[in-house]
Amino acid sequence: MNIILFGPPGAGKGTQARLIQKRYDLDLIATGEILRAEIAKKTPLGVQVEQIMAEGKFPSDDIILSLFKERLDKVSAKGLVLDGLPRTLNQAEKIAQAFEEAGCDINVVIQLAVDEEELIKRLSSRVVCTACGAPHTANSSSLEGETCYKCGSNHFVRRTDDEPEAIRNRFKIYNEKTKPLLDYYSKQGLLKVIDGMQSVEEVNKEIETLLGQMQVLTRKPGCLYSAQDI
Ligand SMILES: [Zn+2]
Repeated sequence: MNIILFGPPGAGKGTQARLIQKRYDLDLIATGEILRAEIAKKTPLGVQVEQIMAEGKFPSDDIILSLFKERLDKVSAKGLVLDGLPRTLNQAEKIAQAFEEAGCDINVVIQLAVDEEELIKRLSSRVVCTACGAPHTANSSSLEGETCYKCGSNHFVRRTDDEPEAIRNRFKIYNEKTKPLLDYYSKQGLLKVIDGMQSVEEVNKEIETLLGQMQVLTRKPGCLYSAQDI
């Protein structure tokens, strides 16, 4: 089962991708996470993309595609969840091609539909613990006196790509470059829409119901996917 999770920045793709990955024992390719790890390790790629991401922009298609192909080669037989890619039509076409060359299909594209204004509010209040990386919500402008629920630290930082200016940029790019992909996948009959403004649990439940129904419809043998897998 190969699944693409689709939605604007902050729609909850990362959280849902992880839940699906665990539930169905799939591999996960999350480009944002991969790139942030490269930045933290200060690899040549990390240094290259750090500035780009801080401005709310995205790395080039070439960088994303090479990360994707590198990981596609190592994927387990059960399939894959994509979080944060494709972001452009070019990426979508190349990814479809790579799947085809591997003898497999994209089984479903799940769109987490959200209210943009509401999302911008949520994103600007998102901070992470500097010690362990756990996400927190800043309810006030200051986090003084707050303690991390996970490690007890009281130092928090806003991700550079969550600064208001960067958020606006990410939405602009999403609307221009990524949103047209909905049409592309819809025409192929792959697109399923879920209300992403619900709670994490509710969204997850809907996704599982959807995948449960699809299991019956799409069972077929093939690489990265077999009838017993899900
Ligand atoms: Zn912490």
